[in-house]
Amino acid sequence: MSLAPFARIPKAELHLHIEGTLEPELAFRLAARNGIRLPYADTEALRAAYLFDDLQSFLDLYYELMAVLVTEDDFEALADAYLERAADQGVRHAEIFFDPQAHMARGITLGTVVEGLSRALARSEERHGVSTKLIMCFLRDQSAESAMETLEAARPYLDRIVGVGLDSAEVGNPAAKFREVYEAAGALGLRKVAHAGEEGDPSYVWEALDVLGVERVDHGLRCLEDPELVARLVRDRVPLTLCPLSNVRLRAIDVLEQHPLVRMMDAGLLCTVNSDDPAYFGGYAGDTFHAVHEALGVHHERLRELARNSFEASFLDGSEADERRRARYLAEVEAFVFDDMTG
Ligand SMILES: [Zn+2]
Repeated sequence: MSLAPFARIPKAELHLHIEGTLEPELAFRLAARNGIRLPYADTEALRAAYLFDDLQSFLDLYYELMAVLVTEDDFEALADAYLERAADQGVRHAEIFFDPQAHMARGITLGTVVEGLSRALARSEERHGVSTKLIMCFLRDQSAESAMETLEAARPYLDRIVGVGLDSAEVGNPAAKFREVYEAAGALGLRKVAHAGEEGDPSYVWEALDVLGVERVDHGLRCLEDPELVARLVRDRVPLTLCPLSNVRLRAIDVLEQHPLVRMMDAGLLCTVNSDDPAYFGGYAGDTFHAVHEALGVHHERLRELARNSFEASFLDGSEADERRRARYLAEVEAFVFDDMTG
């Protein structure tokens, strides 16, 4: 599907796992460079494996392919490839998640990951016109102790990390398990987000808000089951980083036409749409705007609202330079002209 011009409206991407941007071609290139043999004949065979049919087969492939990421250069190449694609899709600002525990568990140091990613990020504004921030995620299916050790290991790199997040298998791993590590992160001046209400019920979202003190909820899809929770999210203007294509691929929703995005916007929730793991879920940020327009009839002014929300929900508020960036991006959103005939 070629990207319609309207889908390139300037936007911020706030829910993006850098490991989920690994395209088959780059996976093969990095595997060759590191002398790693992938169990796929070629990129076509690997691309076919990307058509997984449930969460477990996605996670199996996701972790298997991470093996090709070994050196700082590999992480730099991964981030640079994402930023180039994102720029082409209208992304002007990206707040990028990474999963240090997944790499440290296979002997890659946190320093290798952060130094490599930051090299690409440091050049991104000049090279791709995309400003960036980095958010370190804890794997919620691992222990609270492991999360705390990861936070400790990150201390030398905190000048490059804006906040912490929480991802991976949600059900059975409630947010409260990570109360202490989030308190410690807050004391270090880090911003807080967490995946919640993707597959878990509304209680997971309440805990993320009240126990972890998150500023943004990643997904939050199931908040609709609890009117009191919706009222709270609306009242406090807590942003939700929705990922419609991911919800369909991971079977949270059967088909995109059934996605509650419009209902959520109508309820007054501060919604943003994002690509999550775009190499695996069938589309990048602009593709996602395109898809919700086609499947849900999200019309142009509503796309503009989503774009505006994405900058409002971003962490572009920590310095004067960031405030200036945000003001510039918001002006670009307002000035954007939808020049095609579809409404
Ligand atoms: Zn995610």
